[in-house]
Amino acid sequence: AERNPGQPEFLQAVTEVIVSLWPFIKTNPRYAEHGLLDRLVEPERAIQFRVSWVDDHGDVRVNRGYRIQHSSAIGPFKGGIRFHPSVNLSILKFLAFEQTFKNALTTLPMGGGKGGSDFDPKGRSPGEIMRFCQAFVSELFRHVGADTDVPAGDIGVGGREIGFMTGMMKKLTNRADCVFTGKGLSFGGSLVRPEATGYGTVYFAEEMLRHVGRSLEGMRVSVSGAGNVAQYAVEKAIALGARVITVSDSSGTVIDDDGFTVEKLEILMDVKNHRYGRVSEYAERVGARFEAGRSPWHVPVDVALPCATQNELNGHDAEVLVGNGVTCVAEGANMPSTAEAVTIFEKRGVLYAPGKASNAGGVSTSGLEMSQNAMRLAWTREEVDRRLLEIMKGIHAACLRYGQREDGSVSYVDGANVAGFVKVADAMLAQGVI
Ligand code: NDP
Repeated sequence: AERNPGQPEFLQAVTEVIVSLWPFIKTNPRYAEHGLLDRLVEPERAIQFRVSWVDDHGDVRVNRGYRIQHSSAIGPFKGGIRFHPSVNLSILKFLAFEQTFKNALTTLPMGGGKGGSDFDPKGRSPGEIMRFCQAFVSELFRHVGADTDVPAGDIGVGGREIGFMTGMMKKLTNRADCVFTGKGLSFGGSLVRPEATGYGTVYFAEEMLRHVGRSLEGMRVSVSGAGNVAQYAVEKAIALGARVITVSDSSGTVIDDDGFTVEKLEILMDVKNHRYGRVSEYAERVGARFEAGRSPWHVPVDVALPCATQNELNGHDAEVLVGNGVTCVAEGANMPSTAEAVTIFEKRGVLYAPGKASNAGGVSTSGLEMSQNAMRLAWTREEVDRRLLEIMKGIHAACLRYGQREDGSVSYVDGANVAGFVKVADAMLAQGVI
């Protein structure tokens, strides 16, 4: 804490991982040698920079940009870019730290990183978004590269923003190596990348349920968020026969007991992706109930999929979910459950998957995009989706391997942390003290 003052999210993420790793490290003491843990919690590089740009009124705006290059032990730094007013060093360091373990779990050779800005895209015109992205990349470009650091999207950064950043990157470097992932299909993007995080989260939930002889078919599901991850989690959950009854955004929650349909999802996508609107507008268009200022966790469900943001589900919410009989919680977002909530889920026998396991489908498919770019070819939708499903099953198997408790149940938290740690730690030990 003394080394990282004012960084509560970073300390929260590190504490959760170290506490979970501790029993494993005690029985495998070589992982406590060579300053390994001290090195692992220190980012290799943290870059902070000024982003100045001109808004539609001709006024100069100044934002803060960051790139945290946490670990390159197993491959180039890899992780998303977030544009949200809450972005600061603490949040990006926590995300980059988590990303390192997540990327190790995917089995693909990717290190961990994260970046972004405190820029708020809400209410900004397309021209302002483009100028901001260009200004952001005018500094970021010197720190990234196809074999160095490969950014992607995250909150506030979707296909449109990745397109603008890729364009500026090409202009500045005179190179076409595709350094961002999540690109448009016509310039090196991969099929299924937009869907991958949401699909992967649902694939993972299905694997957890299958392991205890159940499935998503007929289950009541709540989803939080209404962005990229949430939308495709809804799509896949419906496809697997679940009844999805909520989505949300920072203004409140939509509750629809009849459940989502493909047609309703199209309307949500139109509101969020084309009109950049609020979920309350969606609720109005489909005649569903909107509860302003509330999150979805008081709604009784069998499966909860938090897909919005960090610390959006606290101990009280967890108690309510468990009291209502929730059996499975799979995180689409990064660290959406507070430490207290995680303890409640684990102690009360809920099948609980931390984001670093269940939302790894996004970065996995980014890894597949990098492979396709390097080979200069594009796989079919079926091919990418098949590989995504295989990777999610592989992550589930890794969690089982390292997370099995004596009573036969599984701690997906311990499983994911230990499995990711072993890969990164072995690579660090082999590469010496650097
Ligand atoms: P989007 O920007 O597409 O959507 C974010 C959603 O979360 C929006 O509905 C937004 O509502 C809501 N939200 C954001 N901040 C808050 C907040 N403080 N309180 C309540 N709601 C909030 O982002 P993504 O869907 O891409 O990302 C969602 C989560 O998934 C993040 O935690 C991200 O790190 C994680 N993730 C994303 C991956 C990806 O491939 N995109 C990969 C792995 C993890 P509003 O519009 O009101 O802000």
